Amino acid sequence: MKKIIAANWKMNKTLVETKDFFREFKSKVNAQENCEIIICPPFISLTEAANECKNTNIKIGAQNCHYESSGAFTGEISAEMLCDIGVQYVILGHSERRKYFFETDEMINKKIHKALENDLKVIFCVGESIEIREKNAVNEFIAEQINSGLKGVSKENLRNVIVAYEPIWAIGTGKAINSESACCVARFIKKCLADNFGSETAVLYGGSVKPENANEFVKSSDIDGLLVGGASLKAESFAEIIFAVR
Ligand code: PEP
Repeated sequence: MKKIIAANWKMNKTLVETKDFFREFKSKVNAQENCEIIICPPFISLTEAANECKNTNIKIGAQNCHYESSGAFTGEISAEMLCDIGVQYVILGHSERRKYFFETDEMINKKIHKALENDLKVIFCVGESIEIREKNAVNEFIAEQINSGLKGVSKENLRNVIVAYEPIWAIGTGKAINSESACCVARFIKKCLADNFGSETAVLYGGSVKPENANEFVKSSDIDGLLVGGASLKAESFAEIIFAVR
């Protein structure tokens, strides 16, 4: 199976910077067939990014969507709107959305259902805080996030879900988890999905991935790819991660 390498740009890049990125990135990774590449820019750049990626092997994802189809939700974007402009993926449950925008497991579950109803593929993020890790309660915590976040999702629909394991303490800190521990949690997530949902779901690792450590994580069959934040913002370093995975 091809590894999946996804970029989460968070709240970074203007439209002009987005165009510049794609010009450079496409010239570097042109005809790279070794992995599935997904890039998730801010909403305002999605149309441009989707156009840039027509006839390439790069897919475009959003970083959020609302759990209702339409209506009086000022400032929000629906799954249908994303689908309409050629977006294929959406990141849901990111720890920054949980922390700064008070997203609960219940809200995330509703968003996942709505995204799947609209044929979007979901990158569903889970991961523990440092306190949970120090209490040796990682598995229980992750199992709860998975069971609540995916409640009511059918085995059939789970084919369109990728789980990203992102320990919160490793995000944007430069302190990635060691690859053995990441594999251990990825295996646990797969077991949880198999036991509770009967599904075989891809699991990515995210948290301070860079060109130097990317291959460490993906060389095991437990980890199906990477979700990359900071190091995906420069075309050169994101391309280096893709090459490292090869
Ligand atoms: C992220 O926010 O999803 C992430 C993995 O960030 P970083 O790579 O910067 O740690």
